[in-house]
Order: sequence, then C-alpha cells, then structure tokens
Amino acid sequence: MAGVGPTAEIHDLVHRRLHESGIRYTGGRRAVVTAIQMATGPRTAAELANAATGDLPVSSLYRSLAIFGETGILKKHHGSDGIARYELAEWLTGHHHHVVCVACGAIEDIDVPDAAERALHDIASSLGAQAGFRVLDHVLEVEGVCLGCEVTGDR
Ligand SMILES: [Zn+2]
Ligand SMILES: [Zn+2]
Repeated sequence: MAGVGPTAEIHDLVHRRLHESGIRYTGGRRAVVTAIQMATGPRTAAELANAATGDLPVSSLYRSLAIFGETGILKKHHGSDGIARYELAEWLTGHHHHVVCVACGAIEDIDVPDAAERALHDIASSLGAQAGFRVLDHVLEVEGVCLGCEVTGDR
C-alpha cells in the first residue's frame, strides 16, 4: 500500500525507471509522486492537484500522470463513478488490496493480515488451477459504502 516504502527509496526507484527511458525526474514530477505516495489509496487527478505541493499546473500534472503510466510507475483504476484514480504500482509499494465505495467511487487501501493474504493466495491458486491456469497474482476489491456516503445517505 502507499507509504510502505520510505519516500526517499521510492523517489530513487522512480528516478531510475524514468532514467532508463531517458526521461528527467523534474521537481514537478517529484511533487506528483510525493502526493501519490502520501495518499491512503488511489486518487483522482483533481485530488492529486490539490495535494501536490508547490505551484503545479494541471497540464503538467496530466503530462506527469501519462508519463508515469507509460513507464509502469502508476497503476490506474477506474472507479464505479468512471473517474480514473492513480496509485503507485505494486513493484514500488508492495502487494495490497482495496475497498471501494459503490456510492461515490472512493477507493482506499486496506491492510490484509499475512494469514488472510496467504488464504487469499491459496484460494486464488486453487481456483486458477481448476481452470488449468498457473496463477501469478490476484486482485481483490471489497465493495461497500464509505463513511461519508453512509452518513449523508447520498446514494
Ligand atoms: Zn463514498
Ligand atoms: Zn493479495
């Protein structure tokens, strides 16, 4: 999940990945990665624009998001509201899962205890094997209604 790796280490990994593609890791791009890394789940471009420190033009934010997408630094999620949300890819932050609000589309990281993660892995592996697949990975999203939507009843 976001925040697993120390910020300095993540910047270092992002820098190296961009460098491989001949792309400079500018201050603006660094600010975008920091904003994403501080978030507790995938965030929309608008949310990231608000969270990013410094005077970051929206056009440059979108350009950064596109570059990070092309270089595999970001993972993009399409929420139930159809709005794209971005988080750092798992190779940067570690394997994790999400809880998704079916009312407003908000997505938050959830902490899966090791024992539950092993159980999920075993279930996914046996289900995949039934279909003749060698299982590589799994994705699990828990759907629900977030606290904000539950309180306002706005759904
Ligand atoms: Zn919600
Ligand atoms: Zn898992």
